[in-house]
Amino acid sequence: MLNLVLFGPPGAGKGTQADYLIKKFKLKHLSTGELLRDQIAAHTELGQEAKSYMDQGFLVPDSIVIEMIRSELQENKAVNGYVFDGFPRTVEQAIALDELMIINGTEVAAMLLLSVEKEELISRLLGRGKTSGRADDQGTAIIENRILEYDVKTRPIKDYYAAQNKFHRIRGMGTVEEIAQRLIETVSAL
Ligand code: ADP
Repeated sequence: MLNLVLFGPPGAGKGTQADYLIKKFKLKHLSTGELLRDQIAAHTELGQEAKSYMDQGFLVPDSIVIEMIRSELQENKAVNGYVFDGFPRTVEQAIALDELMIINGTEVAAMLLLSVEKEELISRLLGRGKTSGRADDQGTAIIENRILEYDVKTRPIKDYYAAQNKFHRIRGMGTVEEIAQRLIETVSAL
């Protein structure tokens, strides 16, 4: 199995690039952001709880997203591998993912960090906010909060994967196709 963690700050282009990776390597896309938005749309209890965090740009509690991923893995076993997009976002989630991978008889092959400058992130997210309808893309204050959550809670995961020799940095600036090409080259060389 080929299991990839696509990593990077909000607005880095993880969702867009995940589409290229799943097509190229025939993988299953697991985005916790999308799964949570599905729960909100379906008016579930989990969705209601998650929404209060998401709308303000805070991370949803670990227990909620870990359980969501556990159940997705159980329901999608016959696959070539997974692209985890927006997960893990804390060291606790990274540890839980390793445990879940072991239970499934596999492991994370690589963590791919899309690196993008902060000014570019904010302008991309504000741009996306005009059409995405996402509450958390509206206004600089919420976006700054999401970037702060990333810097404080998510960025440290880099060291967790570096210690396992699984960390790869990919420049996330340029055209969508150029970035996809860089990612595909990195994964092909694993
Ligand atoms: P982006 O990467 O642009 O922030 P996502 O769709 O990945 O977009 O995430 C949107 C929001 O969903 C996050 O700001 C957070 O509130 C919540 N979320 C998504 N994934 C996680 C996760 N793994 N842990 C905690 N919260 C999450």
